[in-house]
Amino acid sequence: MYYIGIDLGGTFIKAGLVDENGKIILKDSIPTGKERPYQEIVRDMAMLVKKIIKDAQIDEKDVKSIGIGSPGTPDDKEGILVYANNLPDFVNVPLRTEIQKYIDLPVILDNDANCAALAESIAGAAKDVKNSVTITLGTGVGSGVVIDGKLYSGFNYSAPEMGHMVIRIDGEQCTCGRKGCWEAYASASGLIEQTKRAAMENKDSLINLLVDGDLSKIDAKTAFDAAKQGDETGRKVVEQYIKYLAEGLTNVINIFAPEVVAIGGGVSKEGEYLLKPLRELVYKDVYFKGEPQTQIRVAQMGNDAGIIGAAMLGKINA
Ligand SMILES: [Zn+2]
Repeated sequence: MYYIGIDLGGTFIKAGLVDENGKIILKDSIPTGKERPYQEIVRDMAMLVKKIIKDAQIDEKDVKSIGIGSPGTPDDKEGILVYANNLPDFVNVPLRTEIQKYIDLPVILDNDANCAALAESIAGAAKDVKNSVTITLGTGVGSGVVIDGKLYSGFNYSAPEMGHMVIRIDGEQCTCGRKGCWEAYASASGLIEQTKRAAMENKDSLINLLVDGDLSKIDAKTAFDAAKQGDETGRKVVEQYIKYLAEGLTNVINIFAPEVVAIGGGVSKEGEYLLKPLRELVYKDVYFKGEPQTQIRVAQMGNDAGIIGAAMLGKINA
């Protein structure tokens, strides 16, 4: 039996045919064209699925379900995408019935961060355990919780939003309206902002050289690159960033005590350079001091996490 997973993003619609172990058999993608009416975008999603099924030389009845991961708040009970940031026309869209106009298969919805967590749980960094948390460090801080192999998303599908836990009262302004959210500090965007400020205050820092004096070229890697080359400002930025990351992560581990926390997103490519000091800070502060401790690992599914996790919604909801 196969599963289809669709990763509905603001830039691309990615979809894939996935086996029950979370392995992609075939995948494809098309531009989202996000300014278009939702009917057109949903039609393209359905046509992409049909093309994948045809290209894989299988039949629709070999597919158990279509899972859709999207940003924002999908309501799987009603089959409605309530709201999706980055997709202006997707407000209370009946995604399930719209897709089923073209393809007669069960359609399951969840948000992209939950899909990433499910992908890590079934086929990635947490596949050997039943309880895990996946944190994705991107524009924001995405989070997903798997408990006993199932996703936890709250009674109204809005959880978890760990990125919006406050770690500094009256701190940095967050996009959600509150101040001092973990996301405002620990996201890739937060790190870029911290790197820019440090570069402005320390004109002789290697950071300025690495971007030819153009601060708009600073990305989430710049401070790490400078630090690795011995730059003091870069080292301080990285050290402080890891402190912010650890502050929230310690809270997460205190609350859920997962067997594994998987850290994904671009910043996680720093690997042990990031995780080693992060573990030191977390294990020093975490409430439970015994053994075994939560393992902090790099997420493994990369750009395919959305497709695989969305497809696997069909497996865990069986
Ligand atoms: Zn917030």
